[in-house]
Amino acid sequence: MASMIHRLQRIVQEVNRAPGIDRALVLITESLTRDLNADACTIFLAAKDEPGVLVLQACSGLNPEIIGKVKLKPGQGLIGAIAARAEAMNLINAPVHKKFMLVPESGETDFPVMLGVPIIAHRDVLGVISVQRVEDAFNEDEEAFLTTLAAQLATSIERAESQDRFSSKRATHMIKGVAGAPGMAIGVALVLNRGVAFESVPDKKTDDVEGELKSFREAVRKVCDELTEQASLMRASLPEEECALFIAYAQMLSGGSLIDDTEQSIKAGNWAPSSWRETVEQHAYVFTRMEDRYLAERANDIRDLGLRVLRKLMLEQSAYIDFPEQTILVGDEVTATDLADVPIECLSGVISAHGSSSSHVAILAHALGIPAVMGVPNLPVKQLDGVNLVVDGYNGSAFVNPGKSILTEYRQYLKEEAAIEQNLLELKDQPAITSDQHKVSLLVNSGLMSDYTPSLRSGAEGVGLYRTEIPFQIRDRFPSEEEQYLIYKDVLETFKGMPVVLRTLDVGGDKPLSYFPINEANPFLGWRGVRITLDHPEIFVTQVRAMIRASVNANNLEILLPMISGKAELVECLGLIRRVRAEIEEETGRQILLPRIGAMIEVPSAVYQIEDICALSDFVSIGTNDLTQYLLAVDRNNENVADLFSSLHPAVLKAMIQIVQGAAVSETPVSVCGELAGDPLGVMALLGMGIDSLSMSVGSLLRAKKVIMSFSYEELAELLQQALTMSDSILIRKMYAARLDERGLGGLIRAGK
Ligand code: PEP
Ligand code: MG
Repeated sequence: MASMIHRLQRIVQEVNRAPGIDRALVLITESLTRDLNADACTIFLAAKDEPGVLVLQACSGLNPEIIGKVKLKPGQGLIGAIAARAEAMNLINAPVHKKFMLVPESGETDFPVMLGVPIIAHRDVLGVISVQRVEDAFNEDEEAFLTTLAAQLATSIERAESQDRFSSKRATHMIKGVAGAPGMAIGVALVLNRGVAFESVPDKKTDDVEGELKSFREAVRKVCDELTEQASLMRASLPEEECALFIAYAQMLSGGSLIDDTEQSIKAGNWAPSSWRETVEQHAYVFTRMEDRYLAERANDIRDLGLRVLRKLMLEQSAYIDFPEQTILVGDEVTATDLADVPIECLSGVISAHGSSSSHVAILAHALGIPAVMGVPNLPVKQLDGVNLVVDGYNGSAFVNPGKSILTEYRQYLKEEAAIEQNLLELKDQPAITSDQHKVSLLVNSGLMSDYTPSLRSGAEGVGLYRTEIPFQIRDRFPSEEEQYLIYKDVLETFKGMPVVLRTLDVGGDKPLSYFPINEANPFLGWRGVRITLDHPEIFVTQVRAMIRASVNANNLEILLPMISGKAELVECLGLIRRVRAEIEEETGRQILLPRIGAMIEVPSAVYQIEDICALSDFVSIGTNDLTQYLLAVDRNNENVADLFSSLHPAVLKAMIQIVQGAAVSETPVSVCGELAGDPLGVMALLGMGIDSLSMSVGSLLRAKKVIMSFSYEELAELLQQALTMSDSILIRKMYAARLDERGLGGLIRAGK
């Protein structure tokens, strides 16, 4: 077992690269029989349509005729017992066990020694792997090996199963992720080919076989030329054997099966990039399977070469993307800048395999009023291009190839949603007042878009959070003071007479700057927000100078400091801001009012120092996205734990109450600018705490107003007390949702009225 990791890696790689799950399972049984010196190996998987039933999917050493025929009812036989208990069994004499059940024709009584382990993914038992021998018990190491393998395979099997599901005809099925941005859309998937990786190349058919052949040959020729040129350049500094690799690469592209197979596939009507992907994968797969390590490594050469050609091909293809009228942007990791690549009039929805509701792309989609489904495990992205989809951003699901009844249902929902939106428009000029006359200020989060018209149209009372990161992210250097000045002046003057809260630079975490690379193992616990800008006061000072200068006329600037984790950081920031003000006063000879300065409360340590922080701040703003992430220890972008991310968690509610109480000591105003402020259920909880200033994506503003106008402050305070007696956020959400439903407002949080 010395090379256990190597064996594991090899088996998992083989499975991941096998064409289809059936082949993959056969490979596992063969490898296991060999690696564990077993005489037989079986894999049972859960039947698709019969809950709890296990079906034999692959075996080695037993009669292969029984594959697909042996079915076990829930708990039946030893295999059924392993699945039911979700626990391994290691037996020296299986036939004497009370759960033993003979499968006639299998020949398994010949192998009484048995080790079986469950295959579990996301708490679901997907199946059972077992190995059998004539004699010699399986030892602890072997048991550990099989358990480790089963855990790793679970993910591969899940992925392979979901891909099989997608390739199986054009059947309707549902995919489930987490709610990213509310709303619904019916449209056509467009897979962006941004990342030049084989995984992101979608399957596509073509009518233009000649055109595809031409671009394929062109790409191959260009790579060939490059390789030959590289080889001659290298000759000056590298030994001949190393240069030979480039020549060998070039030869592989000069003809032979790599090229022929791809051309065959194109001639059969497939798009050049996916034809190439398939050929490269198949060739590489043959090498991966070789026992000889040197030859197995050649698989990487083929992939490397494959990528070079792919890059050239994709470069040509991306020049003429035909955006569907209702584009649903689909990707492994859709980014905020990807959204900008789609003409806004075509963009109808987003589905991203990675990420969660507080990922910045979800926040941007929300701001644009576009539904988003995030964190869909095993999304077979490359098979989705051009496929019809229904996206439900309320519950984080989507229907692939929706049938007639689903389409009819969602068309009806969309009509109802449009009616709700229309009714909400009537509220735009009305103040947000509870039924017992408490006024709530509703502001918008901005910075991701430069179009302020929707905010003004929705009756926003100012900008409660302007994220200044984007102008920094879209450049290839820090923006100059003048560039920043113009950007800030635009927003300050557009909202003249209303407060505009500009947040100082909050990069780090999941917001990188290409020209200022930060490589950290734990970026969210690392150099982020004011931690960076205090270490680089020149960046901070330039930004604050631009902000203060930009506000000289409109005089409505408020400055918000991100990631404050203690008093010292705040004192330092305040010192720098005052210094900047003094400098500008000296330069202009004018008296400049010091803007109101607030701290974001988004790090748990700030909650426990709230009184000290408030004593130094003009206001505080709760960033529920990060506060939730840090309090619950749940990465806001990680789909594996996205279900655990809830800003209505009792711990988050209690922390926010502590903030409100601490701030009350110095009468410091508290507002909320995280995503919770725009969630109708969040609005109910926050008002219940006495928070009366909320900043949110513009798309949520009128919905929030509707909620505020439909309840009394007193009632919401009572509901909060009820919520605090509950032990988890699911119950809390249900309780608030039931109250919304009672008022006939269910349509604000889900598809349909
Ligand atoms: C937050 O953390 O809640 C917040 C508003 O800031 P951001 O999402 O930009 O981190
Ligand atoms: Mg934050």
